[in-house]
Amino acid sequence: MRFDGGLDVQRAMAIYAHPDDAEFALAGTAATWAKAGVEFVYCMITNGASGSQDPDMTRARLREIRLAEQRDAARILGVKEVVFLDFEDGYLEPTIDVRRAVARQIRIHRPDVIFTMDPTMRYGGGYVNHPDHIAAAEVVLRSINPDASTRQMLPELWQSEHLEPHKPKALFLVSFGKPDVVIDVSDVVELKLEALRAHRSQIEPDSLEFVKSWMKEAGKKKRYAYAEGFTVLRFDQEGPPRRNVTRGARTAPRARGRRASRSTTTARRGRRRR
Ligand SMILES: [Zn+2]
Repeated sequence: MRFDGGLDVQRAMAIYAHPDDAEFALAGTAATWAKAGVEFVYCMITNGASGSQDPDMTRARLREIRLAEQRDAARILGVKEVVFLDFEDGYLEPTIDVRRAVARQIRIHRPDVIFTMDPTMRYGGGYVNHPDHIAAAEVVLRSINPDASTRQMLPELWQSEHLEPHKPKALFLVSFGKPDVVIDVSDVVELKLEALRAHRSQIEPDSLEFVKSWMKEAGKKKRYAYAEGFTVLRFDQEGPPRRNVTRGARTAPRARGRRASRSTTTARRGRRRR
């Protein structure tokens, strides 16, 4: 599939903290891309075992319920596989163990595009962001540089497990504020709502109305009935197009050099990175 006329996407992966995070944030995009033939994989870092106020519930029981709900939601959307990393819900930190587990999945599935939350989103609109969301997004950023992309980072992944380094072509950060890319999900809005309803232990009717109004708002600028918004980082474009350089924009070559020196293409072996 060609996204936006340029980005060639065969495989995509959403990496997130809890069951239902992906449904709220990007299920419309997952369903749309899956219909277009993209192999969409979910990588859920925690087990969802904290998501209840019920005193009769146990963490062990809730874990089972939420994993089953996530499997159902993924099936509805056409998501090919859900990887459960099973770290404890509510206790997530970007430790080296979590980073290794996420880097391993990126190296196995080799996605062209990775989706995650925005790690800079801490609060807003009467809402304090869950620390697991921030930690999950932080882990994904660290996977881009250096965990998944650099040969001598976590060398056991390559030496013992034969998992070659991998860097995606783009990172899509879920944006509820001012997205720079909006994706039309009008055709799959009912699928998204059905996938959200699959999270039976979590979803109230009100939350579905809220999600719909959210998607309406995101679509306004482009006149889509419903949309999902993202901040997109592209890693497959080395600097500005040539015509800009020859027109003599003085800052362009310098900007290009700076970006290249921080990239983590696997071709540059033997170089020290921090
Ligand atoms: Zn969550």
